[in-house]
Amino acid sequence: NTQFGGADRMVTLEVYTVAQYLRSAPQCRKNLELTETIMSSDRRGSLLWVLDSTVTSMGRRMLRSCIEKPLLDPAAINQRLNAVEELKGGIVLRSRLRDALRSVFDIERLMTRVTYRSCSPRDLIAFSRTSKGLGQILESAPLIKSRLLQELLRDIDPQTELAERIDSTISPEPPALLKDGGYIKPGFSREIDEIRELLHNSRNYLSRMEQELKDKTGIKSLRIGFNKVFGYYIEVSKANLELVPDYFIRRQTITTGERYITEELKELENRILGGNERVIQLERQAFDQLCDAMQQRLEAIQRTAKAVSMLDVLCSFACVAEEYGYCRPAVDNSDVIYIKNGRHPVVENVLNGEMFVPNDTVLDCGENLVNIITGPNMAGKSTYMRQTALIVVMAQMGSFVPASEARIGVVDAIFTRIGSADNIFAGESTFMVEMKEVAYTLRNATAKSLLILDEIGRGTSTYDGMSIARAVIETICREGGVGAKTMFATHYHELTDLDSVFSCVKNYNIAAKKRGDGIVFLRKIVPGPADDSYGIEVAKLAGLPEETISAAKRALSDIEKRAPSEKRGPRLPLKESELRRMKEIFAKVRDVSVETLTPLEAMYLLNDLSTEARAKEDED
Ligand code: ATP
Repeated sequence: NTQFGGADRMVTLEVYTVAQYLRSAPQCRKNLELTETIMSSDRRGSLLWVLDSTVTSMGRRMLRSCIEKPLLDPAAINQRLNAVEELKGGIVLRSRLRDALRSVFDIERLMTRVTYRSCSPRDLIAFSRTSKGLGQILESAPLIKSRLLQELLRDIDPQTELAERIDSTISPEPPALLKDGGYIKPGFSREIDEIRELLHNSRNYLSRMEQELKDKTGIKSLRIGFNKVFGYYIEVSKANLELVPDYFIRRQTITTGERYITEELKELENRILGGNERVIQLERQAFDQLCDAMQQRLEAIQRTAKAVSMLDVLCSFACVAEEYGYCRPAVDNSDVIYIKNGRHPVVENVLNGEMFVPNDTVLDCGENLVNIITGPNMAGKSTYMRQTALIVVMAQMGSFVPASEARIGVVDAIFTRIGSADNIFAGESTFMVEMKEVAYTLRNATAKSLLILDEIGRGTSTYDGMSIARAVIETICREGGVGAKTMFATHYHELTDLDSVFSCVKNYNIAAKKRGDGIVFLRKIVPGPADDSYGIEVAKLAGLPEETISAAKRALSDIEKRAPSEKRGPRLPLKESELRRMKEIFAKVRDVSVETLTPLEAMYLLNDLSTEARAKEDED
């Protein structure tokens, strides 16, 4: 409907179902900075930027698509990993393939232009060069062992015959535009060659005619010219007008003189223009025939393009893995995410002189379902959680990962709640956006999903926020709950007691040391809750004025003096046993019919309730 043409370019239909790929909401892809950074929408600083060592534009597009659509099937992922492993180890094979890939043009886009006939002679030459590159790729076939690489090479058809036809038809360095002709090789068509000869002679004839006219009329400045409106003309300057012979027919007056034609000139003009038109027409015919031949091979060429793109991506994975010291992850259908010495692929690349401190991750659907991560501001909590998500994405793309060892049980979806993304234009506040994302996550996550929740609840009052954060963890952990593997960073230290309520919750903190008035970040994840947030120390690092820092310290000590136990808000209690007991007592009170109760019965009831509450408290 919109292109007003046929759908000729589409030869095959591919069924796309979301169930084939790891699901992630657009906001999640943005949060993880997969293809661009959040702050400046730059490619630099994204996962794509680190992983891109492709050498073709088709490969670059395929890489982006792989990042946006990580796989779910461990078998398919392992096929890719086998290929990457082979290419990483086989340096000769890889460099041969990459050298050949460099001469491969964007034949995918080129074929679109062929279909819509908007291609140029240079496109066809590019196709023939590509064919030679493809031939070189195929020469490496005997060296290849992994199944995926063999399949990709089998899909590559260099279209040698077509390339030979192009080479024998189109000049090796043709003009960029079709409309003026001149791109068909001499020797391709007798008719074209003859007309070109004639045209060449006619142009020579024209200069001879000019000389003769000069001699005959004695007008030295006479010249033969051409313009699009009047065609060929003889120009005579004002001073020589008396010398103009009778058989000159006047055509145009200009400020410096007059322009004429003669019968002979007219005849020559017809020959030249007619010949020109004819040769352009013949060239176009030959060009169209080539395009038709290419169009007929569209399906095979598209298949080749896809295979080449994937080959480029796999080579790129291998190069990056070698350059940055990535390891091959073990990918399976288990519920385990185990990463040893994991690193953030982007942050480790942009640290100025500082060493990136690697950290381990342990998540599963049993004892390690929820990791609660506490630690000072700036300690590296977000970095640590994102690195886990990125390593999962990379593994499911079929790439090696920045770690010394990794086992990744495929996840069906990643949900993130990171930072504040106001949507003021849509009339939503920071907190509203946050809650909507949490709601979406809790409704859509499954036991196979991975949740990255960073500081849930910080957008509202401390107690409300803390209660919501606690309730979210409970919704994930309780029996019959969401059951998704979760990393949960928080400054609400009160939440760390959840590990005594739910056996699947584990506390971790990122170590930091107070040194004098300042703070040293150790960046190492260690088991257990953090002791403090060091918010004031970090604020000082950020350059808050000295007087503000002192005022903050005074305010903090006031709060601590007033209610030492409430420094970090009230303990939001209710272990499962406490909750059950309260419910029982509540049910008894609720069912009392006050109107019919005698004072004595009321006394007994109260006594019962009180005894019950005390007895169970003792039990605890
Ligand atoms: P906040 O609680 O204030 O949000 P945070 O704990 O989430 O802070 P991050 O944003 O993850 O902190 O990290 C802050 C900076 O610390 C990063 O930008 C990075 O430069 C550095 N960093 C994080 N992790 C590491 C690491 N493992 N090794 C070296 N540097 C790191």
